[in-house]
Amino acid sequence: MTGDPRRSVPRTDAVLAEPPVAAAVARLGRDLVKTAVQAAQQRVRDGGLAAADVVPAVLAALPGTASSLRPVLNATGVLVHTNLGRAPLSAAAVDAVVAASGTTDVELDLGTGRRGLRGEGALTALLDAVPAAGAALVVNNCAAALALVATALGGELVIARGELVEIGDGFRIPDLLASTGARLREVGTTNRVSVADYTDALGPDTGAVLKVHPSNFVVRGFTRAAEVAELAPALAGTGVPLVADVGSGLLRPHPLLPDEPDLQTTLAAGADLALCSGDKLLGGPQAGIVLGRADLVQRLRRHPLYRALRVDKTTLAALEATLRGPLPPVRRMLDADPAELRARAGQVAAALQAAGVPATVVDSTARVGGGGAPEFELPSVAVALDVRFAEPLRLGARPVVGYVDDDRTLLDLRSLAPADDADLVRAVEEVARRWT
Ligand SMILES: *Cc1c(COP(=O)(O)O)cnc(C)c1O
Repeated sequence: MTGDPRRSVPRTDAVLAEPPVAAAVARLGRDLVKTAVQAAQQRVRDGGLAAADVVPAVLAALPGTASSLRPVLNATGVLVHTNLGRAPLSAAAVDAVVAASGTTDVELDLGTGRRGLRGEGALTALLDAVPAAGAALVVNNCAAALALVATALGGELVIARGELVEIGDGFRIPDLLASTGARLREVGTTNRVSVADYTDALGPDTGAVLKVHPSNFVVRGFTRAAEVAELAPALAGTGVPLVADVGSGLLRPHPLLPDEPDLQTTLAAGADLALCSGDKLLGGPQAGIVLGRADLVQRLRRHPLYRALRVDKTTLAALEATLRGPLPPVRRMLDADPAELRARAGQVAAALQAAGVPATVVDSTARVGGGGAPEFELPSVAVALDVRFAEPLRLGARPVVGYVDDDRTLLDLRSLAPADDADLVRAVEEVARRWT
């Protein structure tokens, strides 16, 4: 009987009381750890694990955090990858999130002890970054900003047919607008719209004229658009606000992206409100940013729907730190010099070759992504591996997502922070080690 594994299975309470396991309970919660203990006990009963090895087996099976979301290395070359959580936060924004995660003065004026303006620091940072704006409001995302505008300004929304855009994953802006009860008054044709098309459509029920940046496609050939700078003077005196959804969230014009509209220029050109996402080219947390005329922003803030769309303290903290702190990762990736990318790729490939993994440096093409600058190709550099690497890299302890091209797995370095290069090398080595 001494050999019967069932008699030697350590008791659950005893395993949970072992100091490293108890520390894991404090970090991850009892249920998660208990499940790992029970799995290890079963392996002992099945004869696949020695009783003495239960504690190390439990510790090895536990996840790093209580969340199932894992940090992934983005080697796709798509800087703002929606499926990978869009913009990675800067270190300054991460610190701000951690600091604001507990009890914080998000809506309390510590000087007077009374209620303060929610997220005032983030709002002031937005106004400092975009001086043409009279006031600012932050909601859950740009779709929420559109829904709030359509609901609060309501009535009939005048919009060009060429701007009835599907953003991605079946999300169509006209469907969102119509779902609020607003009526769409479509003007122009798919390829052409004039200022007169807009002004002819105005009526007593017009709530706003809406311009949506067609961020993920371009129309070429016999085309004509009515820009904010032409529309604004034509609408002046009508009392109808001009609202521009600029999408990607550039604060100012970017020399590499001349076709991407920015908030400052859009407002200076006469838009009454400008809307954008926080987690695209702005490089911050998921958010919808509304900037513009103070009376209109106040109307949105007072609308009951705003309460359902407002953001959390951690979002406000991350947004403020993104605006005030050092340039966020997405902007560094956008501005990265190809020579610097080539040098990094050379170092990664050399480290892999030294470990016996065939790797070469090849030219690659990166993209902004997230629906921004659809035609714009950023010259980039990748490390090329055998095609068989793609799947195991995705499934590794530190998942890496690259792309497959021409029967090779390519790891593009533009969408990866330089500080992550060492982890990239380790992840590839780990996969190669399993094959040898
Ligand atoms: C991305 C995008 C949206 C949607 O933004 P979310 O922040 O994802 O809700 C809306 N409008 C335009 C023009 C966009 O590019």
